[in-house]
Amino acid sequence: MQIRNRQKRVVRLSCSIHGKGTFMKIRASVIGGIIWNETKGMTPVPTQKLFDDLYVVQDLFANVFLIKDGEDYVAIDAGISAANIKSELASLHVDARNVKAVLVTHSDIDHVNGIAAFADSEVYLPEAEVPMLNNFRITMSECEMSDAAETYKDFEQSGELNLFAGLEYWPDDDIEFAEGENGGRISFLKNRLDRSYKTVGDGETLKIGNISIETILIDGHTKGLTAYLINKKYLFVGDGVSLVDGQLRPFNSFLNLNEALHRKSIEKIKNLKGFKYLFTQHYGFTDDAQMSLAG
Ligand SMILES: [Zn+2]
Repeated sequence: MQIRNRQKRVVRLSCSIHGKGTFMKIRASVIGGIIWNETKGMTPVPTQKLFDDLYVVQDLFANVFLIKDGEDYVAIDAGISAANIKSELASLHVDARNVKAVLVTHSDIDHVNGIAAFADSEVYLPEAEVPMLNNFRITMSECEMSDAAETYKDFEQSGELNLFAGLEYWPDDDIEFAEGENGGRISFLKNRLDRSYKTVGDGETLKIGNISIETILIDGHTKGLTAYLINKKYLFVGDGVSLVDGQLRPFNSFLNLNEALHRKSIEKIKNLKGFKYLFTQHYGFTDDAQMSLAG
């Protein structure tokens, strides 16, 4: 997202608010405002060593987790900004070349865009995410977009315009406007993964080094969002839930592809048993997962 160039990018929309066919201009940066609005309530964990076998990296509004296995690591997700992740890893004295695998929970940019930080790793992607690659993630009507312009005003005043500078993710084909039956619609945020990958299905068991991994499909936020249960102890749910005061809550509905499926998946997560920790990618973690699941 090239917010640096934001002032130059103008998207022209033919909006029929109040049937007047008003012609309006909306800057691409309005989209930055929308995303900012969704992320400002998020509570990622600051970069630190959490346990002997677990590190966390904060990358803007998302977390990357690293499971240690001897000298090697397996990462859960790849974050947003490779440059930022590299400097955070350096602060933890973790050599990125020792990250042997990245388990991607889903293909949204805040989970894969930093993949270049892990140049020597094998990438695992849920197979149901494959159709989401190279497709637009969010579509809005032009009138929703017009409301969103208000959000952009707050975004501008927040002084957080650099929030998205690390994304470097705003190529020309990343916004599309299409005339539809009920007016125009704008699509944006194409999912991309600029690396070869292996796919994983639902209910698989993997072994990477000494780390055991079970995959659990928790679709709804995206088509293939997958939770990873590591060593039967740590469950990583990506954007499968929010955590508020240790309690499971639905994820930001604006960002969910299918809200009904998302709610079903939360029930699926609640029925999982036997592990102690539950980690989200935007809302921290709980060390009493069974209590959080029961709540
Ligand atoms: Zn996310």
